[in-house]
Amino acid sequence: MDYYGKEMSRLIQQLSSLPGIGAKSAQRLAFHIVNMPLEQAKTLSETILDAREHICYCKVCCTLTDQEICPICSDPSRDPGTIMVVENTRDLAAYEKTGKFKGLYHVLQGAISPMLGIGPADIRLKELMIRLKGDVKEVIIATNSSLEGETTAMYISRLVKPTGIKVSRIASGVPVGGDLEYIDEVTLLRALEGRTQL
Ligand code: ZN
Repeated sequence: MDYYGKEMSRLIQQLSSLPGIGAKSAQRLAFHIVNMPLEQAKTLSETILDAREHICYCKVCCTLTDQEICPICSDPSRDPGTIMVVENTRDLAAYEKTGKFKGLYHVLQGAISPMLGIGPADIRLKELMIRLKGDVKEVIIATNSSLEGETTAMYISRLVKPTGIKVSRIASGVPVGGDLEYIDEVTLLRALEGRTQL
C-alpha cells in the first residue's frame, strides 16, 4: 500500500482497524477525509478525542454517559425499586424511546458467551448485585433472545432468586436472535408488559 505514501497508508490502516470497516471502506473513508475542508477534519478528530476522554460508565447503572451519575439514575421521578437489566446502552436507548418504562436500568456491557470466552466476571454483574442490596422490588431481565442473552438471563435469575427479589424476563415478542435495538417500540412494550416471573 506504499504507493499511497506513508501518511495515507497510516490513515487507511487506522480506519480499517474499526469494526465493520474492511480495506475498501477504509480507503474510501481515508480519501474522503483528506479531501475534507481542514476545519471539518479538525472538528471530527476533536470530537473523537472529546468523546473518548469524557465518556465513562455511570457509577450506578454502568451505562455510557459524560457525567458521574447518568441523567436517568439522577432523575428523582424514576422508580428505583424496579431495575431493567439490558446488555448495552443501545438497548437502554431502545426502551427509553418508548417512554413507558419509569424504573431504572442496569447495563451489563455485554453478555455471557462461553464461545467467546466471556464469563460472568467480564460483564457488570458484580455492580448489579451491589445495587440489589438496596430497596429493589423487581429485576426485569431484558437481555437479547440470542443464545448469549438467554444464558445471561438464566445466570442472573439464579443469582437474584435467593435474595427474594422478584425476577422476571421480558416476553418472547422479541424474535429469537433479535437485537433489541432493531425492534419497534410496540413490540418492545408488548414484551415488557407480557413479562413472566422466573
Ligand atoms: Zn446510570
